This record gives sequence, structure tokens and C-alpha cells, in this order.
Amino acid sequence: MPLPGGRPAALLPLCLLCLQAALPLRGHGGRYAGDKVIRVVPENARETQILRAAFNRLKVDLWQPSSPFHIIEGTVTDVRVPQNTSRSLLPYLQQANIQYTILISDLQKAIENQTGLRSYRNRRSLSGYNYEVYHSLEEIQSWMHHLNKTHSDLVHMFSVGKSYEGRPLFVLKLGKRSQLYKKAVWIDCGIHAREWIGPAFCQWFVKEALQTYQTDPVMRKMLTQLYFYIMPVFNVDGYHFSWTNDRFWRKTRSKNTRFRCYGVDANRNWKVKWCDEGASFHPCDDTYCGPFPESEPEVKAVAHFLRKHRKQIKAYLSFHAYAQMLLYPYSYKYATIPNFSCVESAAYNAVNALQSAYGIRYRYGPASSTLYVSSGSSMDWAYKNGIPYAFAFELRDTGHFGFLLPETLIKPTCTETMLAVKNITLHLLKKCH
Ligand SMILES: [Zn+2]
Repeated sequence: MPLPGGRPAALLPLCLLCLQAALPLRGHGGRYAGDKVIRVVPENARETQILRAAFNRLKVDLWQPSSPFHIIEGTVTDVRVPQNTSRSLLPYLQQANIQYTILISDLQKAIENQTGLRSYRNRRSLSGYNYEVYHSLEEIQSWMHHLNKTHSDLVHMFSVGKSYEGRPLFVLKLGKRSQLYKKAVWIDCGIHAREWIGPAFCQWFVKEALQTYQTDPVMRKMLTQLYFYIMPVFNVDGYHFSWTNDRFWRKTRSKNTRFRCYGVDANRNWKVKWCDEGASFHPCDDTYCGPFPESEPEVKAVAHFLRKHRKQIKAYLSFHAYAQMLLYPYSYKYATIPNFSCVESAAYNAVNALQSAYGIRYRYGPASSTLYVSSGSSMDWAYKNGIPYAFAFELRDTGHFGFLLPETLIKPTCTETMLAVKNITLHLLKKCH
């Protein structure tokens, strides 16, 4: 794709080739010692072009957007810059007269501050399970087993398949077995491993459902009239890896033998305009679409389940972070969906409900024009396969903490998001024309 505007990269006055490629940092101080997260908002086509070229060459870890080609004039770009890269990159940006701000000055310290705090706290609250801390995959899976045993009237756990590394892909079916046929809502969290607030929200949703079912008429109605299929951790291998090896891992963990790179972007691997704009063919990129659609066992398993239940499932909700946005199709093109007015009014009401809790205003709209164009996403796939309400949430924040959202913000984030989800669910139960 040609870069819009500006001079060709070869004529740039600055020596792009002088920039050092990032080498993996090991040894003293931990994996991310000295790494920074910086924010740049390119002001014109020249700056946009310089940033795209530099970030593409350096293979820095883009936090927002997810690929250098999504860097757009006037919009925020957050990027993790390894210590050795920042020594050349930051003077380079200054020389090019491109303004940047440092969001996190030492990432390793930021991670350690969080985990340090956590170790002082009991992982179980006085009343049982603690929903205000992040949980490892093992903890989430034993929590699911536990609920399956203790709440068998409302909860049924099953697996839709196995991950690349052989882990079961557990889903909770939540709802009262009241009628023979019920509409259903699918909710998944943790397609991208490092977005830990996602799985925390899925757990929160289940907790709220079970705790308020008796007392809250809205929740009672939801669980009586609908089934909820909840997959707290979609990308189980990646999530596990983000706990054990690399906090900022995004993709799955399948191995590419030719390039010795791991993982596919599980939100670019769906059979809907697969590997077109906003996805990468290169196995080492963070937005790698995979060798073919549904190459990832996790995507294939969920796609199979959704296809099988497409008549029953009326809403598909997928939880990501971070940006504070509520997105609906299309992702892969700038076009209006056929049932736009119903979906748009559901989104409008949902973000208003969300805002009523703590005043946090979400942007909302089609993913292509609100976030960026990306192909092969689960949301577009769900919509194209007949699920009329397909949404992707980008939860808190807008980059202050980014993927390291502190555990103290789990409660407010989940509380406000619950309001949005309840709102969308109620919208489903009303007829919309
Ligand atoms: Zn994501």
C-alpha cells in the first residue's frame, strides 16, 4: 500500500537505517528493564510517514494501534520502546521535530509495582473469591470447575475444543433452564493475551449474574429469557504465556517453523475478508493473520460452535482493551450494516448507561471508522454468519496504564461495563425494526 502524502522514504533527511533494530533484552533487571511506553500523535502526513517507517523497521511493540500501517494523522499512537532502541529512537524523533510524551518511563518497574502490590494481598477476599485481582489461567479454570459444581442450577461448563498446546477451551453456559428454546448471547474475553481486564470482566459478569439473580429483576429476566455462553479466556495458551514469560504477549502460541516466530493474531484469523487490509502476512508481526483462515485451533473451535448455534445466538460480544470504545461492524470496510439503526441505537444506549456509573465516555461506531480497518476479525465474522448484534468492547483505559491497568480499577471498569452489557441484552429482548 503506498503511503499517503509526503516524500518517499528514501528522501527523508534523517537516517532511518541508522536506527538500531531492537534486540531482545535479557539479564539484569528483568525483561522490560528500562523499556518506555511513549505516545506520539502525528500532526501531518510527513510525521505519519516517518513514524510508520521507523516503527515498521524497528519492530517496536505497538500498543495502540496494533500495526504501523494503522498509524493515522491526528490519532494517538502508543508504543513500547525497548531500552536499547529508545537510545536511538528518541533522539531521532527529536531531530525530526516530532513531539512525543513518555507514558511509562520504566516498564519493568511498572510491572513490579503491580505484582508487588498483589503479593501483599490475599487472593481470596473474606467472602470467598476475589474478583478484584487478575487471575492466572489455572485459577480461572478451577473457578469455572467450582461454579459448575456449586451452581448447577444456572451454570453448565463444557469445552468447545483444545488449544494449540492442548489446553481445553472451556465455556460456561449460564441461564435458567426454563424454556425449550431460548435466544442466546455469546461473550468471549481474552482473544488477545495481554488484555487482562477482559478475562477479569468475564469473571465479573458471571459473579454478578449469580449474586444478583435473586434480587435484581433485570438480571432475573436476562437469565430466564436468555442463555449466555461465556468464554472467559479465548486465547488460553497466549494468556498463560503472558503470565509466565511475556506480560505483553498478544497472539496465540502456534509455531511457525520457517520464521521461528510464534503465534497468530486470533482476531485476524477468521474467514471474513481474511488477511486483507489491516492484517499482516508476516509470521513475526503482531497482526499476523495465520497461514490460512481458522488455522488456529482456538478460532476453529469457536467458529464451529457459533456456526452450529447461529440460529439461537442473537448477540456476539467480544472484550478487548484498551481504548474505551464500543465497536460494531464492519471492521474490514467503510460501509453501513443493513440493521444499522437497531445496532446504532443499542450502542448509543449502552455507552450512555456505561457513562452513568463513573462518567467515563466511550466512543462508539463502526470499527473501521472508529478504530481502524482490520480484516478477519471475530466480530465481522459473527455478523456475516447471521448474528445480528455483534460488538467489540475496548475497555479502559486510554493509555495512561494501557495493558497494565491496575487491579484497583477492575471494579469500576467492570461495574460500568456491566451496565452496557445489560443494556444491549435488554435491547435484544425488545423488537427492533
Ligand atoms: Zn484486543
